[in-house]
Amino acid sequence: MIRVNRNHLYLKTLPVSSILCPLCGASGKMEMAFYQVQIETDNIHNTRKITASVSCSNCNKDIPNIRWNNGLDEFYRTEKKQIKVITSFKIGTKGKVLLWIAGIFFGAIFILLAVLYIYGHMKSK
Ligand SMILES: [Zn+2]
Repeated sequence: MIRVNRNHLYLKTLPVSSILCPLCGASGKMEMAFYQVQIETDNIHNTRKITASVSCSNCNKDIPNIRWNNGLDEFYRTEKKQIKVITSFKIGTKGKVLLWIAGIFFGAIFILLAVLYIYGHMKSK
C-alpha cells in the first residue's frame, strides 16, 4: 500500500482589481491565492498543476470555483501562465545528466576537430 498525500503549496496572493465579486457585487475587493499541487508518495513529486482560491474582503466569503465569473476565470488563466512552479528534484537530476551529456558531446566534437586539424597538417607536409 503506497501512501499518497496531496498538499497544496502556497505560492502567492494577488489582488483582483476591477472585477466584480460574484457574491456581493463589490469591485476590487477580491484576492486570489495560488497554490501548487504537490503529490507526495515515498519520494516527493511536485506537479505543475496550479489551483487558486478567491476570497472577498467585502462580504468575507470564499468564492467557490463554480461561482467564478468570466473575469475571474480570465484573471486565473492569465496569472497562471506567469507563475514559475517549483519543479521536483527528479527534473533537477535529469537536467544535470543532460548537462553532462552535452559536455561530453561537445568535448568529443572538439577532440575530433583537433585530430582532423592535426591530421590535415601532417598530410600537407
Ligand atoms: Zn464579495
